[in-house]
Amino acid sequence: RNRMLTRIYGCAFPRKKQLDEYLHLLEEIKKRDHRRIGKELDLFSVNEEIGPGLILWHPKGSVIRRIMEDFWREEHTRAGYDLVFSPHIAKIDLWQVSGHLDFYRQSMFSSIGVEGQDYQLKPMNCPFHIQIYKSRMRSYRDLPVRYAELGTVYRYEPSGTLHGLMRVRGFTQDDAHLFLRPDQLDEEIFSLLDFTLFVLRRFGFDRYEIYLSTRPEKFAGTPENWEKAEEALRRALDRKGLPYEVDPGEGVFYGPKIDIKIKDVLGRAWQCSTIQVDFNNPAMFDVRFIGDDGAEHPAIMIHRALMGSLERFFGVLVEHYGGAFPVWLAPVQADVLSVADRHIEYAREVVAALRAAGFRAEGDFRNEKLGYKIRESQLKKVPYALVIGDREVAGRQVSPRRRGGEQFPPMSLEEFFEALRKETKNQER
Ligand SMILES: [Zn+2]
Repeated sequence: RNRMLTRIYGCAFPRKKQLDEYLHLLEEIKKRDHRRIGKELDLFSVNEEIGPGLILWHPKGSVIRRIMEDFWREEHTRAGYDLVFSPHIAKIDLWQVSGHLDFYRQSMFSSIGVEGQDYQLKPMNCPFHIQIYKSRMRSYRDLPVRYAELGTVYRYEPSGTLHGLMRVRGFTQDDAHLFLRPDQLDEEIFSLLDFTLFVLRRFGFDRYEIYLSTRPEKFAGTPENWEKAEEALRRALDRKGLPYEVDPGEGVFYGPKIDIKIKDVLGRAWQCSTIQVDFNNPAMFDVRFIGDDGAEHPAIMIHRALMGSLERFFGVLVEHYGGAFPVWLAPVQADVLSVADRHIEYAREVVAALRAAGFRAEGDFRNEKLGYKIRESQLKKVPYALVIGDREVAGRQVSPRRRGGEQFPPMSLEEFFEALRKETKNQER
């Protein structure tokens, strides 16, 4: 006879206060779940008819993504990167040379046969950037060459492991590949650390966990090069004075890496940024430059992503802010609410003026009670609600009410624009 076994889980807390804190945390985690907020705020969805792990970005989520992308492009151009684009599939041979077929096959989709040739949906952008680099001979004076791409990649993840935006099958990396002379490696990693933290801070993350991941059991390249690469990463972290932990054996098959996990408002750590040094791909793909001695030398590559995956980073942003995005990221920055029908004409003018000034505004002119409209605007977590009644129409003013309840005295539209601009700027710096 089979005896039934039931597993019972339990947590014990020495103090009542700790138990309360724990229960509060669980409640917060549930409230901030990006899948729940994504639905409530109409940001994104996953559709079984399209397939699991494939994200549909709805208009409001797309506004935030566009802001993330615009910011990223602008800052990368400023930091000396060239922006490139590459296709989503390529001949499978490319992935043989790169080592992905040997080391990464379990994370790749099956190949696609085209006219007797096998093609592969790309799991990474690296080989494409390498081919752009190799499209002509490079001199030591041309280096570093930095190619950046918001590159969409596809990786096979078992359906049981998929989770909202956090674990998906198709995602866009804020990827870049740097081609360097050996003497440029230290300085480049050092400034990359600065650049990474600058980007993370802009989005509101200033607490991190940093890891140095070393050589795994299955690796490509020589132990000497691995040693060199690990040392370079270590020196940069030490010089920057950043505390880190060593994660033995967790490097990528082609090289060691620095991983930065950002901590959200609940103290949870999320893997986002990665900086990887690679001597292997340059050797496999013959990535070279002409030195000042006139001879050819192998270049060193850095692979790096700062946000990591836009999907995942967006998911973390949603949970970090609980959907209440700061003004510069909010899909709608101001809701314009008419009190009665006679206020609609001026309320429309206000929406148009806000939009003309470059702000994201929507109007709610429905025949509903003002309290109801304010509550809805709050639920949508719009930073400002502008109530338009008799007083506002007469004075050609607006009365802003901040998300959360703070009420401002009536002011001119120009004054409100100025306040919004100031707030956006403060959050950006
Ligand atoms: Zn890469």
